[in-house]
Amino acid sequence: MNLIILGAPGSGKGTSATVLREKYSLAHISTGDIFRSNIKNGTPLGLEAKSYMDKGALVPDSLTVSMVEDRLSQDDCKSGYILDGFPRTIAQAEALEEMLAKKGDKIDAVLSIIVDDEIIKDRVSSRRVCEKCGASFNVRFKPTKVEGVCDLCGGNVIQRADDNEETVAARLETYYKNTQPLIDFYDKKGLIVEGNNNVDADKCIADIESGLKTKGII
Ligand code: AMP
Repeated sequence: MNLIILGAPGSGKGTSATVLREKYSLAHISTGDIFRSNIKNGTPLGLEAKSYMDKGALVPDSLTVSMVEDRLSQDDCKSGYILDGFPRTIAQAEALEEMLAKKGDKIDAVLSIIVDDEIIKDRVSSRRVCEKCGASFNVRFKPTKVEGVCDLCGGNVIQRADDNEETVAARLETYYKNTQPLIDFYDKKGLIVEGNNNVDADKCIADIESGLKTKGII
């Protein structure tokens, strides 16, 4: 099963992707995580991506698309994957279609995570993430058992550099301008499955699984 998960920054798409990854043994490809790991390791890609990420802007398609193509060619993607944070523009979606067609592969469903804007702004400011495994926590709604230590892998739990009010506002604007049109793009192809994450991740996952069952994917 090959999935894409779409949602505004802070909508909980990473958390839902992590649950689905575990449950259905999918490779979890988060472009944001790959960029952050490159920044941490000081690679040329990380250096270039950082200047865009710090502003809440998108990293250019030329860098992003080839990075994803490379990742999708790895062995763990052969038995299914979930793309989290990619595609983010119509151009990226078209590039993805092209690269999958070359391999005789396709996307089975596009999960659209729905959350009200006010809830997003509130959640993002208290979000914390594990530097090592990418797990997401929240100092108010889902704190770690030990402060600053990941419950899952023991890694360092930090606040993302771009989770501040100013950058979140820019990221939301970028999302509505560039990424929201993708919902229409994939809806026309009959691929959209919605998950409402206004309340909690359990309800969101239940929505998604019910949509995947209706489509005969699980
Ligand atoms: P995320 O962790 O998905 O919220 O992504 C964090 C940041 O990484 C975004 O605000 C962008 O600057 C960059 N980024 C992640 N995925 C992409 C993508 N598909 N295209 C361009 N930039 C991206």
